[in-house]
Amino acid sequence: MSTPCVRAPLESGEATRQALAEHDLLDGDREIAVEDGDIYVPVVDADAARDAGYDVVDRVTAERDGPTPPAEILGFEPTYERLGDVVIIDEDDPDRAREIADAIVESDVPCETVVNRASKVSGEFRVREWDVLYGDDTETVHREYGHEFALDIAEVYFSPRLATERHRVTEQVNDGERVVDMFAGVGPFAIPMAARGGDVLACDVNPAAIRYLRENAERNGVAERITLLEGDVRETTADYDGWADRVVMNLPHSADDFLDTAVRLASDDCVLHLYDIQHEDDPFGPGERAIREAAEPAGYEVEVLTRHEVRSYAPHELNVCLDVRIHRS
Ligand code: SAM
Repeated sequence: MSTPCVRAPLESGEATRQALAEHDLLDGDREIAVEDGDIYVPVVDADAARDAGYDVVDRVTAERDGPTPPAEILGFEPTYERLGDVVIIDEDDPDRAREIADAIVESDVPCETVVNRASKVSGEFRVREWDVLYGDDTETVHREYGHEFALDIAEVYFSPRLATERHRVTEQVNDGERVVDMFAGVGPFAIPMAARGGDVLACDVNPAAIRYLRENAERNGVAERITLLEGDVRETTADYDGWADRVVMNLPHSADDFLDTAVRLASDDCVLHLYDIQHEDDPFGPGERAIREAAEPAGYEVEVLTRHEVRSYAPHELNVCLDVRIHRS
């Protein structure tokens, strides 16, 4: 059945849909359609929409009959992840990326923005570039294990894939522990650890990460338990020698460069969580040797508590975490 629809570029689709809804022009009985980079939003009054400045065309639209998953539209199961109301896809082929984005928008997946990965994570802030395929807002609020994290994927690092791992480590924190999160990002370790009763020192060199971390600490009611330090953790932590019962080091490619700082921050009995990316043939050896080289000359004994595989990172490469107790009498 042919009905009047407002045609708009897909990038401004959500804004258009919202504006039409606000003016009571949206036809909620017909499905929104997506084709060739344009979105077609069914409207109840073509003249009013034209008067409001919209491009109105007649188009065949389907009757709305309940939620449709993206796989049903595409004929295959797409891979995507959700970060709040941002949907992230990872497609090298731009046509296929567009096809998946269209299907997600058309489907029952709740989303305001669809992005495709446009680069690897890079630079000191560990941020990546994105192709924004739908919507325009890369800021969102993501929920993880009962906590809320506001963040902008264009400005800060955040991976929802690490949720289970962060939970594994957070559960080890005891009431009253002093924790240093050396590379805190927007707070996905620091905030739940503070919520468990830890006194947390959260460090990051990215001002945007610290800004969101401050907001997230307030948002989750733990601001009083978190001290924020903005800048290079090797310099900002000068007043905290010997302070930490636990140190989280989630900067996998270069954490080794910061082990001297971690040892300087450690109390006489401290647990380090060292994240690393290594070849599958010896994923834990290099990290363990680096910890011994940093801690033993400072008089610590080193005891590996857990050798944990977090996830596959690339062919033959693993993202791992070493939980290590360093102690001296
Ligand atoms: N822990 C957070 C998480 O799980 O989402 C963020 C991890 S991200 C891989 C590493 C973080 O370390 C980034 O936010 C980056 O800005 C920060 N960083 C990099 N170099 C740093 C340094 N020298 N001092 C403090 N933070 C640093």
